[in-house]
Amino acid sequence: MISSESAAAQESRQLAPVRAFLSLGSNLGDRRAYLKAAVDSLPDVVAVSPLYETDPVGGPEQGAYLNLVVELATSLSPDQLLGICHRIETASDRVRDVRWGARTLDIDILWMQGIVQDSERLTIPHPRWKERRFVLAPLRDLAPDLVSEVELNLAEGTVIQVEPLFER
Ligand code: ATP
Ligand code: CA
Ligand code: CA
Repeated sequence: MISSESAAAQESRQLAPVRAFLSLGSNLGDRRAYLKAAVDSLPDVVAVSPLYETDPVGGPEQGAYLNLVVELATSLSPDQLLGICHRIETASDRVRDVRWGARTLDIDILWMQGIVQDSERLTIPHPRWKERRFVLAPLRDLAPDLVSEVELNLAEGTVIQVEPLFER
């Protein structure tokens, strides 16, 4: 007998939330306020990493960043999630002019469970995540299974843990 998955089973499979990690950074204006507002606006947040002050990596000369990583358990598609990230950036007065220039808010999708894709609009895992200590340090705090200590030590840039964004 040929068994086929029922429509209800397919639906629940599509809707099962997956683990996902976003990287957030700010180096213009009230950095903490931009990051707080962004975390509060994001859907399906299950954990927020410690906060790091970090030296800019690449790009023109600019001020220090505050960076953190957020974990989601989400049923959104990668494209839907990117759309939400872009809307939150725009609502935070993000201006796109100089590549890797200073910004009020940057939100990147680092990794989504079971998803590998590569298009101009969206590459997952993020193409440069393993090069950047400002990404790997907070990510390893939340997900040591995804980042080894060796990888963290190989990454570029300096990071210092600072007072967390939210009270524990
Ligand atoms: P970097 O990608 O090196 O961190 P950036 O964050 O400064 O640089 P942006 O100008 O914010 O770059 O984004 C440029 C484009 O990258 C976005 O419009 C988006 O379509 C695309 N992009 C591709 N993959 C991703 C991803 N995983 N997360 C977020 N944006 C992505
Ligand atoms: Ca980025
Ligand atoms: Ca970005």
